[in-house]
Amino acid sequence: MNKRIYMSSPDVGELEERYVLAAMRSGWIAPLGPDVDAFEAEMAARVGVTHAVALSSGTAALHLGLLGLGVGPGDIVVTPTMTFAATANAIVYTGAEPYFIDCELVTGNMDPVLLREALEQLYRAGEKVAAIVPVDLLGKAVNYTAICAIADGYGIPVLADAAESLGATHHGQAAGSFGRASILSFNGNKIMTTSGGGMLLTDDADLATHTRYLATQARQPVKHYEHTDIGYNYRLSNLLAALGRAQLTRLDGMIARRRAMRETYRDLFAAVPGVEIFGGENDENDNFWLTSIVVDSAVSGWTADELSAHLLLGNIESRPLWKPMHLQPAFAGARARLNGNAERLFRRGLTLPSGSALSTTQIDQVVGRISTFGSRVS
Ligand SMILES: *Cc1c(COP(=O)(O)O)cnc(C)c1O
Repeated sequence: MNKRIYMSSPDVGELEERYVLAAMRSGWIAPLGPDVDAFEAEMAARVGVTHAVALSSGTAALHLGLLGLGVGPGDIVVTPTMTFAATANAIVYTGAEPYFIDCELVTGNMDPVLLREALEQLYRAGEKVAAIVPVDLLGKAVNYTAICAIADGYGIPVLADAAESLGATHHGQAAGSFGRASILSFNGNKIMTTSGGGMLLTDDADLATHTRYLATQARQPVKHYEHTDIGYNYRLSNLLAALGRAQLTRLDGMIARRRAMRETYRDLFAAVPGVEIFGGENDENDNFWLTSIVVDSAVSGWTADELSAHLLLGNIESRPLWKPMHLQPAFAGARARLNGNAERLFRRGLTLPSGSALSTTQIDQVVGRISTFGSRVS
């Protein structure tokens, strides 16, 4: 049997080896060093922001971004229910309450109409919404034009969770450059990886300085260890930043490979009734991080789950779309404004192998396995 084929494995090779080895030989093994500075500068230039702070994870970046916006106990932070738990967890770390908004059916991104309704209701009730955290689901930028206009109308800052969307754009502007600040993730399964890491991006110099300060144990600039705030150990190591620099030089190539994978699935499922490629036809501004299908079993005659089981027997990984936060036991009782779309996508969606490290042989194996699902897909 073939080696297990994963949905999105790290895509690293000789270039990454060279960068990490050079960093190690330079003697900068500490969390901080010239590769961290260079990685921040290169990413800021790529995304088009003035400040970047490299951190130990995307979750850490969300946590410090929220703290930097002054979010704390008693506040409400509005965020989509259709996301990875890290977005909602970071809100809870600050002591604030997450308030979940359902999504558009086609993109899976936070629905601006529901957002406006929720903000209006909270505003009338005299409740304080301290931040809005939109999420660019699976590499498609949210409608920032609509969402930032609504946020501005209420004077609420936006912290954009661009963990999945590095390389995507909205009206020609890069994901990661919207709102007061944005965050990226370089976790092992993301479009580019530092093995584990994240970044806060912003044009706000004070926010960047404050984030650096909190990420390095909130040390005061004196000779002894002096602390007036509670700090965190959230900086990215210099070795991992070197890995990130190598990956960033290859980002466009990795996006192109993932895009080709999307096209392969589009062709494969084009004539299959009841199956759509998640995200809609209009994907030229996406980064193609992951490709999922949405299966209407009443039309197809089979479920996403059945295809997933068939793939697993061929040693191929696949997974449902994110389970919405309002359905998670950890967030039972959280308030939400729902339209049923996130739950519908969760029940019908299946994410397929999408990584840029997939070899031609592996792609053939995936396509072959899907084709043997029967006359259902041919
Ligand atoms: C991956 C991810 C995160 C968390 O990033 P880590 O680097 O794994 O901490 C946050 N939000 C979303 C939407 C993600 O997909």
